[in-house]
Amino acid sequence: MNPIEEIFPVLAAPKKVIITMHQKPDPDAMGSSLALYHLLVQLGHSVTVVSPTNWPAFLNWMPGCEDVLDYENNRQREKIYESLMNADLLFCLDFNAISRAKHFAAPIKASSCKKILIDHHQQPETASFDYGISDTSKSSTSEMIYNFIWNGGYRDKMNTSIAECLYAGVMGDTGSFRYASASESVHRMIADLKALGLKHTPVHDNIYDNFLENRLRFLGHVLLNRMQVFYEYNTALISVPKTDLLKFEIRTGDTEGLVNFPLTIQGIKMAAICIDRDEERKWSFRSKGEFDVNTFARNYFEGGGHYNAAGGHSSESLEKTIHRFKEALKENASQLQ
Ligand code: 5GP
Ligand code: MN
Repeated sequence: MNPIEEIFPVLAAPKKVIITMHQKPDPDAMGSSLALYHLLVQLGHSVTVVSPTNWPAFLNWMPGCEDVLDYENNRQREKIYESLMNADLLFCLDFNAISRAKHFAAPIKASSCKKILIDHHQQPETASFDYGISDTSKSSTSEMIYNFIWNGGYRDKMNTSIAECLYAGVMGDTGSFRYASASESVHRMIADLKALGLKHTPVHDNIYDNFLENRLRFLGHVLLNRMQVFYEYNTALISVPKTDLLKFEIRTGDTEGLVNFPLTIQGIKMAAICIDRDEERKWSFRSKGEFDVNTFARNYFEGGGHYNAAGGHSSESLEKTIHRFKEALKENASQLQ
């Protein structure tokens, strides 16, 4: 993978560009992608943004979101194939293994255009990319796009649309500026975005105060009836069967953030949630301090992510995958106690 700086001269002439992100995008994936979109359009490129799957409704307010194509939407597939066939450049944001693009992974692999990685997750598959930057010390891909804009000399293109998208991404990935990754440079970046005219309160409201009643009822039900605490392993687990998802009419995004609640219990080092989705059992892991959930997710659930926040999946039944989790707790007892 060549250094990201080498892409700046390539961008000096108009190009056909695709920007994509990881499946089920979060505020950082969508925010960084749309910020880059707004930059590249101003630079005169022809840009298509593709999400491998649908996304939570709480991202729809983002400027440019109405133009994002969904690979799982059959009516948009032809357009996506056509864009991919003609593309010069494909930017992959907020993921570092092509498989994280779900069914969009195969067409990406088959495409002959130059691939560019901008990401902050651990263990990047750098061989899959022609240019890029992978920096696990960064709070978010949105912070990296902010740096990309500065380093490329595109500072004059920064506007409030870009600022809102980047703010949402950094806010999402730092737990609203709470985690250690909310560094001095992150706060300086936000100060700069504020100086540009960013109004940050609506961004919080749009993302965190924008659910339907059923999601809050679901949260109450799940915390009361679906949470187990294993004090001997300083771990809490929430498992959500399909019947709950149907009963509470749960949509993409409604389960986001649930995994953080058990971490508020005194002494808990790891929180996990397993959701019985149609196609797979989807895991989210969070930890405090010294327990490495990236490695845990990689070892047991074909996943990965960051040291304190990771995800994974399993094709086994909910019952079997929960059993597997409990076995994994035993095997990791010495690090959890
Ligand atoms: P979440 O639990 O919010 O879905 O994801 C937490 C972090 O782990 C995010 O940075 C996300 O991109 C990453 N992640 C989630 N699921 C997976 C997975 O199945 N594989 C890998 N490699 N990373 C994941
Ligand atoms: Mn991210």
